[in-house]
Amino acid sequence: EKTETGWNFDNSYVNLPELFFTSLHPTPVRSPKLVFLNGPLAESLGLNVRSLQSEDGVAMLAGNRISEGAFPLAQAYAGHQFGHFTMLGDGRAHLIGEQITPAGKRFDIQLKGSGRTPYSRGGDGRAALGPMLREYIISEAMHALGIPTTRSLAVVTTGETVIRETALPGAILTRVASSHLRVGTFQYVSRWGTVEELRTLADYTINRHFSGIKNSENRYLSLLNEVIKRQADLISKWQMVGFIHGVMNTDNMTISGETIDYGPCAFMDNYDPSTVFSSIDTYGRYAYGNQPDIGGWNLARFAETLLPLLDVNQDKALKLAQDAISDFVELYHSNWLNGMRVKLGISNEEPQDQSLIEELLGLMHKYNADYTNTFAALTYDMLKGTALFESQEFNQWHKKWQERLTKQPESKDDSKQLMKNNNPTVIPRNHRVEEALEAAVEHEDYSVMERLLKVLSEPYSQSLQQNDHYTNPPAPSTCPYRTFCG
Ligand code: AMP
Ligand code: MG
Ligand code: MG
Repeated sequence: EKTETGWNFDNSYVNLPELFFTSLHPTPVRSPKLVFLNGPLAESLGLNVRSLQSEDGVAMLAGNRISEGAFPLAQAYAGHQFGHFTMLGDGRAHLIGEQITPAGKRFDIQLKGSGRTPYSRGGDGRAALGPMLREYIISEAMHALGIPTTRSLAVVTTGETVIRETALPGAILTRVASSHLRVGTFQYVSRWGTVEELRTLADYTINRHFSGIKNSENRYLSLLNEVIKRQADLISKWQMVGFIHGVMNTDNMTISGETIDYGPCAFMDNYDPSTVFSSIDTYGRYAYGNQPDIGGWNLARFAETLLPLLDVNQDKALKLAQDAISDFVELYHSNWLNGMRVKLGISNEEPQDQSLIEELLGLMHKYNADYTNTFAALTYDMLKGTALFESQEFNQWHKKWQERLTKQPESKDDSKQLMKNNNPTVIPRNHRVEEALEAAVEHEDYSVMERLLKVLSEPYSQSLQQNDHYTNPPAPSTCPYRTFCG
């Protein structure tokens, strides 16, 4: 039954074993106020924007009112955090329901910052406004870049403060995801459930995300292979745009292949594989250059949970899992190579491509070149004004590159177009994101964020290449940019 707002919930997660979740309502907040609503996303979900903005609509986005057909619950999951296994679960989030869109697709509607749950441990179940706006900005930027991600439907302020290092305004984000199934969900059921419950979870996952493999000979092996494919695709796309997730714990890796959990993430400025922004990542475990290896490590943890389902013979199961994980390494590498090729306008394969790419990256590293702007400059022939472009080494590399481009049948124009389609001119620059958050949080001025969101919605726009305000890297600073978990 559809509500006036267009909520059209069907709740499949509720039919799973009780072990998997706890039914409970969000904790109401004092005075909810809508500060951001994603109109195009709302419409694609079949929601009425005007009605979402009404008092009842906002009350629902704040968790104060439970819409008809909704069935709020907190999901249980576990995970490896910086390599250490632990019980987790939604400690400050509620799955409100699964929205069936007019196109017949199913999306989780989750409130984040909506109150304590049995999985909160010492936490307050709440979220501060800054980090929720930050998730809104970066997730929507990722979507516009063409990278699979959870989306942000709305942010409401609560009229309450949350205590972090200081008192901050509280907020709730409405997150939209293909599902919230994580590697950590499988780890949880594998550790504390029965094999039958694990099979139930795997079958549910196949039904929801990979219906094409339902009838395959060994569907659990197919499940593993499909998840590996999605993650190899996702992580290579992160690398292409210089996205650093920052906290690639197994509970923050989805089975659907969407980017999730925008905590300490940030985009790299100058190219340096050891780049880390997260204040808690002391050892650089989740540095830019480590993301593919960590992806493989997390997938190995996923594969382990599936062992009882892969084969009755556990030696055989282990062999199947190991082979699948080594496929990830190859698959990722070939995605990376092809991704870099198209960034350079290359549409066929030559054996020297990898060294051509690595040589450029090496020079970018050596000359402290901005990652995004270097590729944009190559795309738009603006090869001036940086130490890299003025170097003799770059000149030589450029000749080799031009020479390489003659070894493909595509026209020069097609090659340029390929570059335009694959090299963003704008990314969410850290100093621009901070500026938008400061205006919003300190001065209740949302106009800076509105403008930033507009720019980030067309990241491949040629005209933005001239827009210094959004494309300039931050001024060199003695104090490196640091991000924090929300
Ligand atoms: P994250 O670092 O965002 O992946 O979160 C790790 C775990 O901590 C998850 O189980 C979260 O639900 C939980 N958590 C994070 N912040 C809070 C909070 N303020 N209150 C309760 N639980 C939280
Ligand atoms: Mg998380
Ligand atoms: Mg988080």
